[in-house]
Amino acid sequence: MHRRVSILGATGSVGASTLDLMDQAQAAGSATFEVEVVTGDQNIALLAQQARRWNAKLAVTADPSRLEDLRDALAGSGVEAAAGADAVVDAARRPVDWTMCSIVGAAGLRSAWAAAGQGGVLALANKESLVCCGPALMARVKAAGGRLIPVDSEHSAIFQVFPAEAPERVARIILTASGGPFRQATLARMAAVTPREAVAHPNWSMGAKISVDSATMANKGLEMIEAAYLFGLPGDKIDVVVHPESIIHSLVEMVDGSTLAQMGPPDMRTPIACALSWPDRLAWPAPKLDLATLGRLTFEAPDETRFPALALARQALGAGGAVPAVFNAANEVAARAFLDGKLGFLNIAAVVAETMQRAEGAGVRFGADNACDAALAVDAEARKIADRVVASLAAAA
Ligand code: NAD
Ligand code: MG
Repeated sequence: MHRRVSILGATGSVGASTLDLMDQAQAAGSATFEVEVVTGDQNIALLAQQARRWNAKLAVTADPSRLEDLRDALAGSGVEAAAGADAVVDAARRPVDWTMCSIVGAAGLRSAWAAAGQGGVLALANKESLVCCGPALMARVKAAGGRLIPVDSEHSAIFQVFPAEAPERVARIILTASGGPFRQATLARMAAVTPREAVAHPNWSMGAKISVDSATMANKGLEMIEAAYLFGLPGDKIDVVVHPESIIHSLVEMVDGSTLAQMGPPDMRTPIACALSWPDRLAWPAPKLDLATLGRLTFEAPDETRFPALALARQALGAGGAVPAVFNAANEVAARAFLDGKLGFLNIAAVVAETMQRAEGAGVRFGADNACDAALAVDAEARKIADRVVASLAAAA
C-alpha cells in the first residue's frame, strides 16, 4: 500500500499517533507513505521535527506570529513553511489520497471542509466539525468523489460492523463510554474537581479538551450527534452504555436481536489504521487483546443526573439545525474556562444548558453551499453568549 497523506493537527495526540503508526507500518514493510502537509499550532519544535522526518512538502502553524520560528526550525530542510488560519485551510486543499483531520474543536471545521472538497479519503477525528455541520460535510465529501471514514474509536467500531447497504436491518447502535475519571464520584466531589484531575483519563491518553469532555461526558454527547449524522440514525436509535474497561468500542444491534461488537485495546492507532487502509487491513505491530488476562468486562447505565451533558446533547440532536453547533461552541468555551481555572467543573454543563436556552430562536438553517460559513457564524454567536454566561457564573461564585 502506498499513500500520499496530509495530517492536519499533526502535533496533537491523534496526529502524533497517526505519524507513529505510519512509521511502524513502514518499518514492518506493509505500507509506504509520502507526506504533503503537516500542520500544528504552538509546538513549533515538534512540527518541524515531524516535517523533517517525513520530508513533508509543507509545514503550517496556525499561529501567524510563529512563522519566523517555524522557518528557523526548518532551515536547510527544503520544507516550505506557512502560518495562519487561512494557510492551514489552503494546505488542506492540496490534493492527496488521505487527509487526517485531527485539529481540536470547531477550529478544525474550515480545514476539514476544504479537505472534503478535494476528493480523497477524509479520516475524521475532529468530531466537532461533524457536530457543527455533519450532513453538509458528508454531502460535500460524496460530491467530490471522496470518502469520509470516522476515526473516533466508537464510530470506527460501528463503521466496521454497520450494514451500510441495508440500514433498515439496524434496531439501534450502542456507544460505549468509559465513564471518565469521575464515574463513581459524588456530586460534592465533582464540584471540587481540578483541571489536573479532569485531564487524567483512566484508559486513554488524549489532548486536554477531549479529556475534559470525557470527564463531563460531553464527549459522549458530541459522539451521539456525530453517530446520528455518520450513520443516518435518529436520536432514539442511539444509546450509551458505560463500559469502564474501554475494550468493546461500540455495538450495533440488529432487528433480529443479534448484536455485533468491535473490540480492541484502547489505542487510537488501531482505528487510525482502519481509516488508513479501509477496506483493507494494515499490518503493524499492534497491541493485541488478551481476554483471559482481562478476565471480565463490565457495563452500567450512564447517570444523567451527574452527567447532564448527555441529555443536553440529545436535546440538541432532537432540535437539529444549528443547535448542535451551539451545544458544541458552549461546551468548548466552558471546557476552556474550566481549564483556565475560571469555572467550576459542574458549571461546564450549566454553561451549555444556559447558552442553549439563550440561543434558542437563533434558528439558523444551513444551506448545502454555505454550511461551513453558516456553522461558523452560529459558532461565533454561541461563543459570545457562552462567554457572558461564564462571566456571570464566575461573578456569582
Ligand atoms: P490535541 O489537543 O492533542 O491536538 C490538537 C491539534 O490541533 C494540535 O496539533 C494543535 O496544534 C492543533 N490546533 C489546536 N488549536 C488549533 C487552531 N486554532 N488551529 C489549527 N490547529 C489547532 O487534541 P487530540 O486529543 O489529538 O484531539 C484532536 C481531535 O480528535 C479532537 O476533535 C478530538 O475530539 C478527536 N479525538 C481525539 C481522540 C484522542 O484519543 N485524543 C480520540 C477520538 C477523537
Ligand atoms: Mg470517542
